[in-house]
Amino acid sequence: MNLNAQPTASLFIDGRPVEGEGAALPVFYPYTGQEIATLREASTDQVALACQAAARAQPAWAALAPVDRARVLSRAAAIIRARNDELSRLETLDTGKPIQETLIADWESGAQALEYFAGLGPTLTGQMIPLGRDWAYTRREPLGVCAGIGAWNYPSQIACWKAAPALIMGNAMVFKPSEETPLGALQLAAILTEAGLPAGIFNVVQGGGAVGAALVTDVNVAKVSLTGSVPTGRRVYAAAAEGMRHVTMELGGKSPLIVFDDASLEDAVGAAMLANFYSSGQICSNGTRVFVQEGIRDAFLRRLAERAATIRMGDPLDAETQHGPITSPAQAEKIRAAIAAGQAAGARLVCGGPGEGAFIPPTVFADATDDMTIARDEIFGPVMTTLTFRDEAEVIARANATGFGLAAGVFTQDLTRAHRVTAGLQAGTCWINAYNLTPVEMPFGGVKQSGIGRENSAAAIEHYSQLKSVYVGMGPVEAPY
Ligand code: NAD
Repeated sequence: MNLNAQPTASLFIDGRPVEGEGAALPVFYPYTGQEIATLREASTDQVALACQAAARAQPAWAALAPVDRARVLSRAAAIIRARNDELSRLETLDTGKPIQETLIADWESGAQALEYFAGLGPTLTGQMIPLGRDWAYTRREPLGVCAGIGAWNYPSQIACWKAAPALIMGNAMVFKPSEETPLGALQLAAILTEAGLPAGIFNVVQGGGAVGAALVTDVNVAKVSLTGSVPTGRRVYAAAAEGMRHVTMELGGKSPLIVFDDASLEDAVGAAMLANFYSSGQICSNGTRVFVQEGIRDAFLRRLAERAATIRMGDPLDAETQHGPITSPAQAEKIRAAIAAGQAAGARLVCGGPGEGAFIPPTVFADATDDMTIARDEIFGPVMTTLTFRDEAEVIARANATGFGLAAGVFTQDLTRAHRVTAGLQAGTCWINAYNLTPVEMPFGGVKQSGIGRENSAAAIEHYSQLKSVYVGMGPVEAPY
């Protein structure tokens, strides 16, 4: 099978593909370990050039009528849809995620973001503020050049989720995908260009943390939107603060999923599996601490083990495969170390385990306690930790006893309890009788260490624009001098 995924060039600057001048960046297909492309990182000069190109192009883009910007985004969404099969295949090669997932969840979600913000942008207006004789109005203005930095789990979706609100508001963007998954962002740049985006408005640079750091502190960058881990978030937030840059931080989590004993067992088990095993568990908002009420615990674990045993692991390009490899060998080893730590701490392995090579099977721990590392640290792999609880107040306190605050879920048939519990949970996104659904219409983001700002929905607009107030004097100036 031909797995060559070599792009025209590694970077995309000022409307065209440009080869990187930095270190070699090999790209591996996680399933076979085969090298499918060799890119080159951007040099520091190339990062600066990309930011300069963005700064040059941005004012003319911002001066367009919103419908004219929207048309470009809509066209890009249509191109993505028309090419979804080939784009999804590339996403699978880049990440190792099963094709049955990438066909429906990755570029499709990116297309929805482009459509949504294309629709929303032209409806945005300022405020007129009557002040008696005088009046004031507000203008929502772009920030200028925005830096986007992505994680490796949803590379193309992340690029679209950042580009769509940024671009519709009249900003330009320089995007750096994760060094593990550099291919999708280049496709987005080409698609946006084909859709009519002017040169310089969406640029792609490649590289690891050092290239990211150069981008964050570039003199032309007004805003940084990062999707990544909490430690990286801290570094990027601090670096951005030096230049008083705006930030959006979409970081990690250890989210609770609470199952009360009146919940629909099948739904709760299905959601717990989705919340831990989709994308081989490499999802920031995963509900990795599954709190199960005593009365339903045994039935829950039994059914979970039965259903987890039916998950089909294998070749990600096979349409039947439901569980693919971990995206990078280093990440697979981190997950194995976490599983070993869980076993060493005395938690019981209900199913799964360390697996082999790039594969880690769906893994469930029972009899865990809150102080174990498997119940505290983000693993970012297909590892579910189940914990038992007695009552509502106890489970809310335990669910909140973490530095993270990305997401949470509650399964119960009791309407008032569902809303009371979600009100008490310290999380940016909560689901009731559902999990991990992130429609573009709904704000998404974290509280506490899990982040700052929101992606998706109208709330994202606030993070890619700033308000200007204009006071209009309608009469003589009354000076006391
Ligand atoms: P990571 O923090 O290692 O890297 C994220 C990105 O930051 C990469 O592109 C990396 O090159 C870059 N980077 C690293 N150091 C940098 C620096 N000093 N300055 C600028 N950029 C730098 O994260 P990862 O391993 O790629 O992704 C997994 C993490 O991302 C998990 O913690 C996961 O929860 C989180 N994540 C969060 C969300 C969300 O929306 N909240 C979504 C997906 C993933």
